[in-house]
Amino acid sequence: MQTETEKSAGLTSGLSVELGTLPALSDTQCWCCEMGCGDVIPKEIDFEYSRTEDIKTGRLIESLTEKRYVSPCCGKGLFAWDNSTDDEVLVGGKPLTA
Ligand SMILES: [Zn+2]
Repeated sequence: MQTETEKSAGLTSGLSVELGTLPALSDTQCWCCEMGCGDVIPKEIDFEYSRTEDIKTGRLIESLTEKRYVSPCCGKGLFAWDNSTDDEVLVGGKPLTA
């Protein structure tokens, strides 16, 4: 019962991933493709989260993008794996993802 309280208390700390950066991993940790391809080198992409076009001409008015990291093989999300514990890297009780 004690551990449950401690777990939920840590949930909000250090979980948010800053835009345009990858959380630093230790030597024994690596990024893995969420599709199960194994460890990969994260690829930086410009993810377009908002796009405004002129309805008549189809001309681009505004494109808003942000930096994201995806797997180079599938273009999918990433999660951190720790080879020393042979388990996912957990931050505040949740898997560390990018
Ligand atoms: Zn993959």
